[in-house]
Amino acid sequence: MKRYFGSSGVRGVVGEFITTDLAMKLGLGLATQLGEGSSVVIGRDTRTSGEMLESALVSGLLSGGCNTELIGIFPTPGVAYLAKALSKDAGIMITASHNPPPYNGFKFFSKHGVAFLPEMEQRLEEILISNAFNYANWERIGSVKKSNSTSPYFSMLYDFSFKKKWRVVLDPGCGAASVVAPLVFRNVGCDVIALNSQVDGHFPARSSEPIKENLQGLMEAVSGLGADIGIAYDGDADRMVAIDEQGNFVPSDKLLALFALFMITQEEDPNKEKIIALPINTSDATDEYVRESGGKVIRTKVGDVYISQALLEHNGIFGGEPIGAWIHPQYHLCPDGILSSLLLLKFLDEMDSPISELIKNVPDRCKVSLKIKCKNELKPSVMEYVKKTLPSQFDATENILHLDGIRIDLKDGWILIRPSGTEPLMRVTTEAKEQTQAEKLLEIGKRVVEEALTTV
Ligand code: MG
Repeated sequence: MKRYFGSSGVRGVVGEFITTDLAMKLGLGLATQLGEGSSVVIGRDTRTSGEMLESALVSGLLSGGCNTELIGIFPTPGVAYLAKALSKDAGIMITASHNPPPYNGFKFFSKHGVAFLPEMEQRLEEILISNAFNYANWERIGSVKKSNSTSPYFSMLYDFSFKKKWRVVLDPGCGAASVVAPLVFRNVGCDVIALNSQVDGHFPARSSEPIKENLQGLMEAVSGLGADIGIAYDGDADRMVAIDEQGNFVPSDKLLALFALFMITQEEDPNKEKIIALPINTSDATDEYVRESGGKVIRTKVGDVYISQALLEHNGIFGGEPIGAWIHPQYHLCPDGILSSLLLLKFLDEMDSPISELIKNVPDRCKVSLKIKCKNELKPSVMEYVKKTLPSQFDATENILHLDGIRIDLKDGWILIRPSGTEPLMRVTTEAKEQTQAEKLLEIGKRVVEEALTTV
């Protein structure tokens, strides 16, 4: 298990795991990894600790001889995109994504705009753990440039146009999409109403996690204002979810199915295999729908980096996670909330249909999940116990997958138990055609994890 990196960069509570000391070491470590004379682009979300961590990170980078370009508050996918577009050696985003306000962290992107692969993280970890830092000579110390050279990212987003003037309610939740999303949607000709789009790292309006329970205000605004659609982003705008024109939350597995269908219909090469990369916690209904629409599903571990990797490896056309992270490799390989919301609107525009009609074709399933607190150091032994014990809880199992945690497919549903990659939690997810069956499976999963926690 890595000491610093989780499944989505380095993340934790500010003042505890995430400190200025760590930020400086990460900066110096990355400069050592990239070499003197290298250059990086850095952005941050709206968290109160962002500037503090940025300063320390930059100090570390400069002392290792790396040149830095600071673009300030900006969406994570924008930083990833600019790392490649501005020909940098890497991109760094200071963010804790959807985590509560006391958290912050660092996401690293390669010069290709792809999240650091495990081996690149491993190399940076090794430098940090062994203190094998390279301090640049005084003549080779890096430079700082505060810049607004963000136009390549905006150019990509401004390239959209629509037949209809769509009335859109946007809810960035005071996060990194606050400035960019309303600007982009107005520029491409939409009638925009923006909620919670003041930059505020306390996230006073709602939690930065874009889940149904947090989006009551947006749902009411969409139906009350007669809008066509509502869009909510997470704290760093790599995730988006949608509200239909009646003010109902669109289940993310169904949204995933719609994106897959759109990308399958957009593919012009009839001979190209239409590969869709989906993580192990995706609904079976989405799988079925993708297959029936002419796509081929590839299963991945949970985490956008694994989806990006699978898309690269298999030349896939779309990948997504049901938490609202959608990857469109035709544009770039980082999940992108603003790009995805434009693509969704493009699909509605082409189909000339409200979103509530389009999702009717995706089969229904009941999916439930819960999280149980578990210290990071206990996760391996808890998982060992769960892997040994869980299969024996069922009379008959159809398939057992160890791709990420343990997933057991049953005749009437499935259960997945896996450690969170970003928080001290175990996650239990189940799905069935009936709600009662999904909840029954969830109870079994909960009991097994709780037993494990008392045993280890
Ligand atoms: Mg995020």
